[in-house]
Amino acid sequence: MRGMLARAQALISESALRGNLTALARRAGARLLLPVKADAYGHGLEIVARVAAHHPDVWGLAVAVPREAVALAALGLGKPILLLTPPAPEEVGPLADLGVRLPVASVAEADALPPHARAHLKVDTGMNRLGARPDEAIRVGQRLAERGLLEGAYTHFATADEPDPSFAREQFARFQGVLDALPPVLAHAANGGGILSFGPLPGLSLARPGLASYGFAPTHLREKAPLTPAMTLKARVTHVHAVHPGESVSYGGLWQAGRETSVATVGIGYADGYPRNATGRAQVLVQGERRPVLGRICMDQCMVDVTGLEVRVGDWVEVWGGGEITVTDVAGWGDTVEYEVLTGLGARVERVAEG
Ligand SMILES: *Cc1c(COP(=O)(O)O)cnc(C)c1O
Repeated sequence: MRGMLARAQALISESALRGNLTALARRAGARLLLPVKADAYGHGLEIVARVAAHHPDVWGLAVAVPREAVALAALGLGKPILLLTPPAPEEVGPLADLGVRLPVASVAEADALPPHARAHLKVDTGMNRLGARPDEAIRVGQRLAERGLLEGAYTHFATADEPDPSFAREQFARFQGVLDALPPVLAHAANGGGILSFGPLPGLSLARPGLASYGFAPTHLREKAPLTPAMTLKARVTHVHAVHPGESVSYGGLWQAGRETSVATVGIGYADGYPRNATGRAQVLVQGERRPVLGRICMDQCMVDVTGLEVRVGDWVEVWGGGEITVTDVAGWGDTVEYEVLTGLGARVERVAEG
């Protein structure tokens, strides 16, 4: 908005994204079907989709819901788009007209597709969320193939980011059974955890790394590929004041000053996605130093101990980034996971692409 300064900015490093995509495609031995659902895991759909569109290792882009598919198609980036969850019957025609690849999990859905649709057969190999069970999936896939609409087939691992890979291996074997009964298709199964755990999987031509593309991996898989967090979140100081010993800060008076304290109010709160549950644990970087967030994190702001620092209104504070304080830290303080913190980043936070 003209003339109005953002209180918080998410800087998106395009070079970090590009490096992550290259590293993951190499580890997978496959091109990528990049998940850009939920506003590209909070990073900004347009910024990420444009990077992906120019990246040779990216075959296409995957979204969760029809509205995301329509928004992505409107960017006209020229790479295939796959919808990952079932459309309502009245959405099928318009999505097919836009060239969006559709998930199909029943013979009835296969029969209802218009003749110019392209389908990816969804196979449920144990996640029990979406898709046809293997025997049924073979019938659906054969029907799609008869109609000339079968472009791809996929399944989703339930436990690929956990230390024990045995259930994911079982899922993969079930998926291979389905692929063996069908003509060759673009087959895909691994999410980020699957790629990092397994490397190349035989017979698969695509992989779908989400969180890993944005720079995050579970601790036990970190050495499998060089990944860099693509987002740095910063917020502005909006007020600086002194708090005297015995006074409290923020709702509920949870934090009390034991000494004369210089307090900066910072323009980020839980309505922006900074987890309220991180109250009492959260830290931010002020001029490169870790400083505690004092008392309750509020809806629009939080307060930070800046005692001993020369802090002015308008200065930036780093909330998370690729260095000292990461989304992983913030998720831990908030009793949640990186996925929820990133996708919870609010619309008031301006997304800014940087080289
Ligand atoms: C979100 C999603 C992914 C990406 O998962 P990550 O754990 O972020 O790598 C892959 N496949 C499907 C079907 C998804 O819904």
